[in-house]
Amino acid sequence: MANSPELRERNLGLVLTEICRPAAPGAPAPARSQIARRTGLHKTTVSQLADELLAAGLIVELPPLAAARSGRPTLPLAPNPGRLAALGLEINVEYLGLKAIDLTGAVLAERHDAADQRGSDPARTLARLADLARDVVARLARRGTPVVGVGLALPGLTTTAGDRLALLNAPNLGWRDLDLRPFEARLGRPLKLDNEANFAARAELRLAGPDPAERSFVYLSAEAGIGGGLVSDDVLTAGLHGWAGEVGHVMIDPDGPVCACGARGCLETYAGRRAIARTVGLPASARPEAVLAAVAADPAAAKRFDDVVAALATGLAGVLNLLDITQVVLGGDYAVLAPVLAEPLRSALQRRTLAARWGGAEVTVRPARVATTPAALGAAWAVLDQVLANPAAYF
Ligand SMILES: [Zn+2]
Repeated sequence: MANSPELRERNLGLVLTEICRPAAPGAPAPARSQIARRTGLHKTTVSQLADELLAAGLIVELPPLAAARSGRPTLPLAPNPGRLAALGLEINVEYLGLKAIDLTGAVLAERHDAADQRGSDPARTLARLADLARDVVARLARRGTPVVGVGLALPGLTTTAGDRLALLNAPNLGWRDLDLRPFEARLGRPLKLDNEANFAARAELRLAGPDPAERSFVYLSAEAGIGGGLVSDDVLTAGLHGWAGEVGHVMIDPDGPVCACGARGCLETYAGRRAIARTVGLPASARPEAVLAAVAADPAAAKRFDDVVAALATGLAGVLNLLDITQVVLGGDYAVLAPVLAEPLRSALQRRTLAARWGGAEVTVRPARVATTPAALGAAWAVLDQVLANPAAYF
């Protein structure tokens, strides 16, 4: 058992994960002894596994930092740039996004094609996205970097139950019941599918510091609708159907307006893009930049914006207390609105959160660190996480 292939695969994954973990600013890459300490594996075992990863080309040895006391230099280990890549794709209501990254996290290719996808023909959009993807895959292949998998982020409910790979409903695109197996076949690579907010939350987690309070958060992705991703103790919570984190459909008022999901009084009907614009006295089609300008300049608009903050605080206070987390990350429109949204929302949550009232914790509300195509980046990381979990499959 101790030497079973499963255990070896798992330990290879542990060692590669440590080597690929983003280092704190200024911190050196880890050497074998540090990896042994962090993983709890024996130093000899770590050395053997590191040699296998070196032989497979997944990692490289960096120049020695300083000679150890025994006289033998300690060689820091790092992921091998360009050895393999993952592709993240994103279909957004307003653009098509693409990011390709390697195990160092370096972005090898990216695209952001502005295009209104509302009411678009899914077949045409997917064909266009497949063309973009195949072009990047071919270019990377010429550089000797194989793309091992593709992640696709969609602004709606997706399912991977059984052997399905499908979008159930994306009301803001006007897409329903879309089988994505043909798209996967067209790409010729395994496709990982998820909601855009879940993938964006994954990208944000990758950049979180070591403080446990930073590694638990609710990620809000606001555009036409409000998407959400829950990260609790370093883990993106999926739920039974992969739909955990749908903060936009938390009920604010059972008699409120009808939501795109069919229920009444969801948070989205108070704090989605159109609702916010109308609340502050702008046309429903107004963009968040215009809302920000109005709220910053016009005291009457600022007063009306308080209703948006109150609805968000009501919905989020429940989430923070339920999960015992203290951090809210603002993505999409909310990142644009952060100058007028973050502080009043933080202040309201500080008063309503148990961890703040009784645990001395500070609630944090901040804009997302990944500003462009965050879901495409998270989708690519979701693919690389599979490499980290079982590197031997990619030898
Ligand atoms: Zn709803």
